[in-house]
Amino acid sequence: MAPVARAAALLRAGQLVAFPTETVYGLGGAARDAAAVAGIFAAKGRPHFNPLISHFPDADTAFAEVLADGRARALAAAFWPGPLTLVLPRAPGCAIAELATAGLPSLAVRVPAHPLAQALLREAGVPVVAPSANRSGAVSPTTAAHVMEGLAGRIAAVLDGGPCAVGVESTVVDLTGPVPLLLRPGGVPEAALAALIGPLGRPAPASAEDAARPAPGMLSSHYAPALPVRLDATAVAPGEALLAFGPALPGAGALWQLSESGDTVEAAARLFAGLRWLDAEGQRLGLSGIAAMPIPEEGLGAAIRDRLARAAAPRG
Ligand code: AMP
Ligand code: MG
Repeated sequence: MAPVARAAALLRAGQLVAFPTETVYGLGGAARDAAAVAGIFAAKGRPHFNPLISHFPDADTAFAEVLADGRARALAAAFWPGPLTLVLPRAPGCAIAELATAGLPSLAVRVPAHPLAQALLREAGVPVVAPSANRSGAVSPTTAAHVMEGLAGRIAAVLDGGPCAVGVESTVVDLTGPVPLLLRPGGVPEAALAALIGPLGRPAPASAEDAARPAPGMLSSHYAPALPVRLDATAVAPGEALLAFGPALPGAGALWQLSESGDTVEAAARLFAGLRWLDAEGQRLGLSGIAAMPIPEEGLGAAIRDRLARAAAPRG
C-alpha cells in the first residue's frame, strides 16, 4: 500500500500518525474518536488537556463542523489552504470529540497547504486533530527524524515529507464573537486579515491561574458542571452521583465508569462525556453533587486530575 493510503487507513482505525504540514510535523488522530484523541495526549505526555486544531482537506468539509459566518468564508477564500486557524462555534451536529476541544463550545479548524497533509486528509475522509508531533515541553519537529526521536514506539507511523518550512505556526483567529480576536500570531499577518474583516481585538487578559498555563486563554470558560464536584472521594455520600475509576464505590445515585480497569487513557477518552452525563442525570434525579474517585498521577492521570480540579473549583 502506498504510504498515504496506509497512513489514512491507520487514522481511520484510531491509530496515531505524524505528518508534515507547512508549519511543523503534526501528530494526527481521528478527531471524532475520543480514544484516539486521548492517545495523542498520552503519546505527548501532556500534563493537561488543551484544545486541539481539527484539520480538513478543504473549506467545505471544515465548515460542515462549525457555524461559519461571512467573515470566516472571506478569510477561508483568501487564505486556505494555508497557515490560518479559525475558531468558530461548533455546528449542532458536530461530532468532534469533546476531549479535542477541552469541553469548549467552539472548534478550531484549519486547511493545511502541504501536499502530503492535503493527500492524507483527503484520503482519510475524517477530520484529524493534530498538535505538534513532539513530547510535551520539547521543541516542535520539522523533520520525520525529529518526530521519531521523541515519539518512536508511541505512534503507528510518520509520513516523511522532508523538512518543513520552519518557525511559522498558524495564525489563530477567534470568530465566535462580534469582534474578531487574534489568539495567536502566525503565518498569516494580522494586517492581511484586518484588510478583509476589519481590526482584530485581543482576548481578555487571562486570570492569574490561566496565565500560568501553557495553553493561552479561554481556560476559565471551559465546560464546568452545574453540580458541585468533590475530588478524591473514598466513599459516596447520600444523594451523590459517582465518577468512578476502577471498581466503583457503592451507593451512588448515578454512576459513570471512567475505566473499570484503571486505564488513564480510556478514562481521558470518557471524561468529558461522563461529566456532562452525570451533571444532566444528577440534576434530573435531584442529586446534590458529583463525587470523583481518586485518579493516580501516572499517564494521563495528571491531566485528568487537572481537569477535575477545574470542575471542582469555586465559580465566580
Ligand atoms: P497547536 O496545536 O500548538 O497549533 O495550538 C493550538 C492553538 O489553537 C492553541 O493556541 C489553542 O489554544 C488554540 N485553540 C484550539 N482550539 C481552540 C478553541 N476551541 N478555542 C480557542 N482556542 C483554541
Ligand atoms: Mg507544540
